[in-house]
Amino acid sequence: MTMGGGTWVKIRRALNAENLGLRWDGTSSEIASAEEPVEVDFSQLRARGKARTQQTLWRLMSYVRPHWPYAVGVTAAIVSGAALELVQPWILGFILIGDVLGGGNLSRANLGLLPWVVLLLGVTFGFKQVSSFFKGYLSEVLGQKTVHRLRSEVYQSIEHLPLHVFDKSRSGELVSRVVSDVNEVEKVMTEDVANVVANGVMIVGSIGLLFLVNPGLALIVAPVGVLLVVVVNLFKRTIKRFSAKIHEAVADLTAKAFEVFSGIRIVKSFLLEHHEADEFRDRSLRMGRAKVRVARLSAVYSSSVDLLTFAALIGVIWYAAPSVVAGTIKLGALVAFFGLMDKMFKPLVQLSKDSLKVQKAIAAGDRIFEAIDAEQEALYVPGGLVPTAIAGRIEFDRVSFGYRPGRNVLEDLSLVIEPGETVAVVGPSGVGKSTIVSLLLRFYEPTSGRILIDGYPIDRINLGALRRSIGLVMQEPVLFSGSIRDNIKGVKLRASDDDVVRASQAANAHEFVARLPRGYDTQIGERGVSLSVGQRQRIAIARALLKEPSILILDEATSNIDSESESLIQDALRRLGRRRTMIIIGHRLSSIMDADRIVVLEGGGIVEMGTHDALIEKGGTYTRLYEAQIDRVPREPTHDELVEP
Ligand code: ATP
Repeated sequence: MTMGGGTWVKIRRALNAENLGLRWDGTSSEIASAEEPVEVDFSQLRARGKARTQQTLWRLMSYVRPHWPYAVGVTAAIVSGAALELVQPWILGFILIGDVLGGGNLSRANLGLLPWVVLLLGVTFGFKQVSSFFKGYLSEVLGQKTVHRLRSEVYQSIEHLPLHVFDKSRSGELVSRVVSDVNEVEKVMTEDVANVVANGVMIVGSIGLLFLVNPGLALIVAPVGVLLVVVVNLFKRTIKRFSAKIHEAVADLTAKAFEVFSGIRIVKSFLLEHHEADEFRDRSLRMGRAKVRVARLSAVYSSSVDLLTFAALIGVIWYAAPSVVAGTIKLGALVAFFGLMDKMFKPLVQLSKDSLKVQKAIAAGDRIFEAIDAEQEALYVPGGLVPTAIAGRIEFDRVSFGYRPGRNVLEDLSLVIEPGETVAVVGPSGVGKSTIVSLLLRFYEPTSGRILIDGYPIDRINLGALRRSIGLVMQEPVLFSGSIRDNIKGVKLRASDDDVVRASQAANAHEFVARLPRGYDTQIGERGVSLSVGQRQRIAIARALLKEPSILILDEATSNIDSESESLIQDALRRLGRRRTMIIIGHRLSSIMDADRIVVLEGGGIVEMGTHDALIEKGGTYTRLYEAQIDRVPREPTHDELVEP
């Protein structure tokens, strides 16, 4: 069975486990999606607030604001670090060259000042290290505090998106919002923002000092500085374009590996290893080529930057050397000037580069806020009904629904299920059986008609209360990483260990769990592979039972398992069905024959309804389905067939 992003979200929703911190174990036996995946289109969703690129930076800053003492600390560390950095060329030029070495005139040298120079250099170096420590440490703390909130918010928002967003998204796409996009912002927050500010302070400080030292020389350097910014920005744009291609290539490569590894059984069984490896190699090659192109461009870019700074240096030397000889510029001032030039050019180049990273982080921030702002399902709305007890009467009143406009899956469907009744829904594949379940759980809303539980329209019942009253067991038993106990208890954290055992006993799971060396503490291994499908299914049933739902839905829950497991599950279900309304969707008719009523779907509506015997007697669609299955099961030979002719 294909299990895209939507399936496990369905399970979490049905379990109401979104807030319980359980991790999905994602057992899937096929490659993620056969259909061409569609990028998540959050624009389809009504945005609560408008996240526009220009607002993103301010919005990111709003996450920093609560931690302002750290921001103040980082700024103080940056400013003091920059000031100390700029002091050094000053000490070297004016004090060491100018005073200690007499500005090139040895008769005026004063070596007595040398210890003071060493002391000054030592003190500035020491303080610079202290401020650099605080800059690094405090910006990491600030970044982590900020990003932690952002990451948690985007994760929670994505969990609460309506299911149709998950249907249309690539498995990796939503994960990438939580992981890659947040990482992008994190990197900039913890490193680059501090560097941008530090470089900004350095540039402003060094330009001021350059003009202070010698305005004439500073005017030679200024146009080169401007040209440098222009060149860096020109390259930046091209590098940005190529980097985006690399980003896509990396995402493509990751998605490919993700798909293949999660569907490794299919890949191996169809001997697709070579084919998949070739595809991976092609993608890897494409990524490699894109990276080489960026490296080539970066090399040309570096040389251009070096050429410009070299030109500025030559210009200053050409103009200043005669002036030093003529005595109009002091040697110490020239040395200080060279030092300050270096302190200006490096941050200038770095600042332009970092601004690209900041832009990328803003783009990532945009994507994050898009997800945070997207319309979410509200589990509790003011004025929503919260019935104290649900008896389990379900009514579909002329319900129509289609996943795409103009293509209804269900057409005018009406059905009443009484409390405590077990109703089986059967019909050909793709007829809309699971869709009925999805509508009942309000994963989707009907296009027309109403669904009522105990007489309340379900869109008036608070979503949390509705989903709490329904237990869902699906064909693919999805377990989350953690212990068996965590998995069962996850839906009801208040449950005691005895409750867990009782639910497991009712689901016929206790016996095999108790036989495991670590019992309920057994960790569900890497994707739960250490348990059979039937065992996982029974744990899934125990989980649904612990919730004590008034309505239990089994969506093809026994179609993947052997007959021994099936009979254990059937046995458990028979006991459970007495106390609650049950809807069983099944392909395997053996699993539904005992139902109080069997509903046969065809062509978007109900074509037959009744008990197994009544439907067989009628000789309609159900009989056809039944006979088709019986034909597939090897029969015992009849007496006549055994008699030799
Ligand atoms: P099966 O017995 O094979 O599980 P089913 O009777 O349960 O099938 P549904 O899963 O309800 O059928 O699907 C009914 C129709 O709706 C199918 O044609 C299916 O392709 C389509 N469909 C189901 N889910 C979606 C979705 N999320 N988005 C678009 N179309 C969907």
